[in-house]
Amino acid sequence: MELPTSFSRREFLAKTSCFGSYYALASLIPLPALPAELAVDQRISQTPLVDKGFASIRKIGNGVYATISDFSKGITTICNGGFLVGKDAAFLIEGFTTAAGASFQMDTLRTVSQLPVKGALDTHYHFDHSMGNSFYGANGIPLWAHATTAKRIVDNYVPMQGVDKEAVLGPIEKAIKDAKSDVERAHLQTDLNAVTSVFQVASSSILSLPNHPLDPSKLPMSVDLGGLTAVLESYPGHSGTDIVVRLPEQNIVYTGDLFFHGWYPVCFDEKATISGWRETLKKFAAFDKDTLFVPGHGQLCGQEGIASIREVFDDIAGQAEKMYKAGVPAEEAQHRYVVPDKFKNFPIFAWGFTIGPAITKLYAEWQRK
Ligand SMILES: [Zn+2]
Repeated sequence: MELPTSFSRREFLAKTSCFGSYYALASLIPLPALPAELAVDQRISQTPLVDKGFASIRKIGNGVYATISDFSKGITTICNGGFLVGKDAAFLIEGFTTAAGASFQMDTLRTVSQLPVKGALDTHYHFDHSMGNSFYGANGIPLWAHATTAKRIVDNYVPMQGVDKEAVLGPIEKAIKDAKSDVERAHLQTDLNAVTSVFQVASSSILSLPNHPLDPSKLPMSVDLGGLTAVLESYPGHSGTDIVVRLPEQNIVYTGDLFFHGWYPVCFDEKATISGWRETLKKFAAFDKDTLFVPGHGQLCGQEGIASIREVFDDIAGQAEKMYKAGVPAEEAQHRYVVPDKFKNFPIFAWGFTIGPAITKLYAEWQRK
């Protein structure tokens, strides 16, 4: 198959110049090295197949490869992903932020296998996992996703296309002017950076929708690639469209954004549920003790990574509960959370995408009780 790689590079170079708001976020977010315990993990190749800075791809199992992004070095991919290679077919994970990101992953797959590609999966609808879908569409690769992903892409990103950026950013700029405190203003500024970044990608991307919907009532579902079986499962928590890819025989899991490793979890989605997400993480913690996790964002890790994100949720819930019991209103509580020393190196994509909504959603859950 002929792949438009030269196009990808030009597109990447053209795009990076207009992404100042990303660098405001990304400069804070260097990817940590592989943890020491993974350096002795027999499944993992210590040398990546390829390292482009913005992402590297390495073998992490038998026919199993992980794409790990470093947000601080570019926005071509942003999220993690990977691919699977059996005896009969290959399977790709994630549509990434740009067509160039999807193309990079496909090119790397083709350096190890010429087998037909059974599909490419968006683990959920969010822009950084789906705006590169058009690459797969253009190359005739079936695009798999949770059945509601197509609608969520249309509902959330079409309104950002063909409009002046003020239509999208105006309300946040007004909120910054009207902020009641410096803390609230600083938090809203991080939201403005994040929404500016999402707008820049969504307004300049050609949207491409999944054509292989996965009905969640029919999951889990096995995908036989020939001597390598992937199991697709659906869990609540991050976006209402989340699909996880498990390789049960090798104890490897691609979690999508149900797991942010070493980051504050992004909870803003209208379908995100904090209690549901914490239950999901409890299930991940009950997977085999040697499970290797490919998180949606952050470095590869074992169960210690799941323990760390559960601690972050516990800390947010603990601080929120004290404020709830003390009668602090939700609007105020969402800005009062204090990042403990332990998590001070955990990137916060934007306050209003992570900690703020986690607290207001917890309040809403407690109020319903
Ligand atoms: Zn997401």
